[in-house]
Amino acid sequence: MLVKGQIPENEPIVSIGLVLPVDEQKSIEIEFGETKEKIQIRANEKNLFLNRNPEENIYLTDSSFTLNPIRAGRGFHWEKQISITVEGELEIKIVYGYLFVINHISLEKYLICVATSEMSGECPQALLESQTVAARSWLLAAAEQKHADLGLDACNDDCCQRYQGMGNLTNAAIAASEKTRGRILIYDGKICDTRYSKSCGGISENNENAWGGEPKPYLRAIHDGNNSTIPNLKSESNLKKWLTDDQHCFCGPDYVPGNQLEKYLGNVDKSGTYFRWNVSFTQEELTILINGKTGKRFESIQSLQPLERGISGRIIQLRIDGKINGEPSDLILENEYEIRWALHPDFLYSSAFIIEANSTADSLPSRFTFKGAGWGHGVGLCQIGALGMSLNGTSFTDILSHYFQSTELRKIYD
Ligand SMILES: [Zn+2]
Ligand SMILES: [Zn+2]
Repeated sequence: MLVKGQIPENEPIVSIGLVLPVDEQKSIEIEFGETKEKIQIRANEKNLFLNRNPEENIYLTDSSFTLNPIRAGRGFHWEKQISITVEGELEIKIVYGYLFVINHISLEKYLICVATSEMSGECPQALLESQTVAARSWLLAAAEQKHADLGLDACNDDCCQRYQGMGNLTNAAIAASEKTRGRILIYDGKICDTRYSKSCGGISENNENAWGGEPKPYLRAIHDGNNSTIPNLKSESNLKKWLTDDQHCFCGPDYVPGNQLEKYLGNVDKSGTYFRWNVSFTQEELTILINGKTGKRFESIQSLQPLERGISGRIIQLRIDGKINGEPSDLILENEYEIRWALHPDFLYSSAFIIEANSTADSLPSRFTFKGAGWGHGVGLCQIGALGMSLNGTSFTDILSHYFQSTELRKIYD
């Protein structure tokens, strides 16, 4: 495993989880690249079975491997089962009766796959280059280490970074990785925790507003365009105007036309417009949704009231008022992730939205409409914005210094 904050002197081997115990997967098929031989690995309560022979641990080397099935988009609206082809070594274990599959792979090979899993290999060179530097710095900073208990540097999915193997590789992606090989972003002598999300919606967010913790100087909100000033989106009326007026942003339709977005997005993304979006629920739909997600037993929802917003307009504290047994009752959602999870059957694109509720005679709204901006937490690099900048001829170094201000690009190994 990588050590938090330690700058490696040589290219490291990283450990990526492909099948996790939480997937509760009992079997997997693995095909060897060279021989095309297929094996079936199963788990029962205590043992692994390779074809029919019991084994404790299985270690596979000296080939590429195609694994099927692999879960992609765990718990999100785009979840599906895919098959992936990876290089490096495979370690297969059993944890609580379920399969646990780890891919040990050299960092640069892993990064080529991340670049074309996060976004499509059709993307322009500068986007792939900036994405690769961000992915390398994020992994090496090891600030999160969400799966440290399993001995992993990252999982294969959106919870960490998307890693869907070599299936989507293009020459452009390989060239992007070679050009940026060993290069990471540094601030104050330390590796930067370079977060990124799909679309900031025009203004990015401060890291502490998304996850709490100490503010990081290179994860400050910026206007994702040519303006240096940011409107005050904590005011509801300013935010409404910001969402309704035309905005000239790198992640908006001026730079990335909606009809071209699909070809640039990764292969498990739904196509759509993420810069501005609308979602609408009837009173009954919203009540059932919130009760189902939060365990509350509202009979009706009276209002949704943002208590605190971040710089990008993302709601970071939301109050829900309703009635239980005829009496007023409320619930407070405490962060952007909870808000996005509670207010959509799958996951709301972002928490940067205004709430419009129509009033009726008995003052109970019959419909709630959310008008919003962006997709994801909005901190750090905006992937669609970086795409817009690269389509406009901006270099990867300029893209990185736009999103991660005051950072230095440094080559740490050859
Ligand atoms: Zn993860
Ligand atoms: Zn953006």
